[in-house]
Amino acid sequence: MTAESAYLVFQGFAGLFGLLFGSFMNVCIARMPEDRSVVYPGSACPSCGTPIKPYDNVPVLAWMWLRGRCRACKAPISPLYPLVEAAFGVLTVLLFRHIVPDVGAFDVPHLVATAWYGWLLFAIMAMTFTDLRHKIIPDEFSIYSVPVGVGGAALLGWLGYEGAPTWQQSVVGATVGGGIIAAAIGGYWLVRREEGMGWGDAKLLAAFGAWFGAFPGVFGILMIGSTLGSVFGVSQMLGRGTSGRLAVPFGPFLGFGAVVWCFWGERVALRWSQLFVF
Ligand SMILES: [Zn+2]
Repeated sequence: MTAESAYLVFQGFAGLFGLLFGSFMNVCIARMPEDRSVVYPGSACPSCGTPIKPYDNVPVLAWMWLRGRCRACKAPISPLYPLVEAAFGVLTVLLFRHIVPDVGAFDVPHLVATAWYGWLLFAIMAMTFTDLRHKIIPDEFSIYSVPVGVGGAALLGWLGYEGAPTWQQSVVGATVGGGIIAAAIGGYWLVRREEGMGWGDAKLLAAFGAWFGAFPGVFGILMIGSTLGSVFGVSQMLGRGTSGRLAVPFGPFLGFGAVVWCFWGERVALRWSQLFVF
């Protein structure tokens, strides 16, 4: 097998992993806000309760051959399910290509790095859909991921992988990330006697800090996230013609900032350092 075709096969496996985890993500989005187990019982139709057969659980394809309806009761199944699966499949392939740019880089440290960043992308995407649908960010996707971030940074450092922060930088990143939002919540409360942002956002930025370090990681993600959030908030305000309190879910914007940082962080940081001359 040539190096090119081997690389294609590896990408195919990465995509397959992504599709399967995308399927699991649908379960997380549906069950975690209700504190139900994501393992047991198996998936069932929300309308009639019929357990879903393994062959009707194949990512993306099952929805197509069922034509978007439950096999038992014919209730429609949301196209969001196959879309989440497909989107995470694509994201996983892009991540693999980003971390492992050619077959020469295919080794244990790079695979561990792909899995480590993959965990984060999974958490971000699952968090985004959960926050949009249920207005909460489950701890599993934010603060509980911090030990995974720090542990992964330590493991990658031990393996000699250079594209991740050291575990010390990871700990500082998590502390600074959570601390910035906690300070913002505290400051806002002192002035207005109400909470401006959610604690979920603080826990989320703590997790991002564990993956990307405090500087420029946390600051870059915060800058991208709040810029997008403000643009969205202002356009919403103009559209409604009100100047009342904004109800912008900040978590998804922070998550988008983290995805941008995962793929283009180094380039963005370089551009900024040229602008401001540190
Ligand atoms: Zn049904």
